[in-house]
Amino acid sequence: MKKSKTLVPANTARPERKEVFAGKSTPRDAAYPLIGAHTNGGITGAVAKALEIGAQSMQIFIGSPQTWKPPQPAPDDIKKFREDVARENLGPVFVHGNYLVNLATLSLDNLQKSVLNLHTALRLSDAIGAEGLIFHPGSAGSAKRSEAIDRVLAAMTVVLKDYDGQCRLLMEVCAGQGQTIGDDFGELGTIIAELNYDKRIGVAWDTCHLYNAGFDVATEKGLAKTVSEFDKLVGFEWLFAVHANDSKNPLGSRKDRHENIGQGYIGEEGFRRMLHHPELRSLPWMLEVPGFDEKGPDRKNIEILHRLSA
Ligand SMILES: [Zn+2]
Ligand SMILES: [Zn+2]
Repeated sequence: MKKSKTLVPANTARPERKEVFAGKSTPRDAAYPLIGAHTNGGITGAVAKALEIGAQSMQIFIGSPQTWKPPQPAPDDIKKFREDVARENLGPVFVHGNYLVNLATLSLDNLQKSVLNLHTALRLSDAIGAEGLIFHPGSAGSAKRSEAIDRVLAAMTVVLKDYDGQCRLLMEVCAGQGQTIGDDFGELGTIIAELNYDKRIGVAWDTCHLYNAGFDVATEKGLAKTVSEFDKLVGFEWLFAVHANDSKNPLGSRKDRHENIGQGYIGEEGFRRMLHHPELRSLPWMLEVPGFDEKGPDRKNIEILHRLSA
């Protein structure tokens, strides 16, 4: 397998856009963004939280995101969650993967735990009716980037083995801190191509991560460049969700600290432009911000995104 930072597969078998969209639970021709948030409480508490803050789309954790303890939601709770989401007309729902997962790790023990965790989480995410399981591909550590990507590819193949659910495994763009995989569109495009454009996978954006990885989504010119680069190296048909976070740190800082919308370096105008961009407008936008009361994503941040998208 040959790979380079900006590899676009030569005799490209890149499928048609509509082919990749097929099977999606959310219509991609929505005329407005589906604004929501990461809502705490897991499958037993997240719906109440979403209603409290006025979230449409939602992202939740299943199980503890900081330990290897496998999530074991009760079947009744899964059933109730699906019913509540449907009754309240919420969604789409996404699950955020465990933070310990690192598919690029050199430690065999960590790799096995990571694969098992994602394997379980993907099937549970499908069971609760989620559209995507968003995860951070991992960090190369001291290893060569190309070798790290090979490990990610092999691990994703195992995670997806014999899986035929509707929930997609979504790689989140990273801020480029350390040796994280996923701050380079060429690498994400390579992974998708090497997995033969598998329709069980996809990508999630995070506006703060992009900005800190050096994509200037805060300006008109920077956004245009980011969009054209992503379109060329990955393709928007592979983008399924956006984490809407302002940034506490300046462009290209390679740090990952989220800020409330309008209080960081991206600013309200940056978000207004992104929310109106035709490639981004109909996507689910989910906040992962500190909140104006420091209690996590809140109604105020959601209202700001609504105002900016109007
Ligand atoms: Zn994120
Ligand atoms: Zn982050």
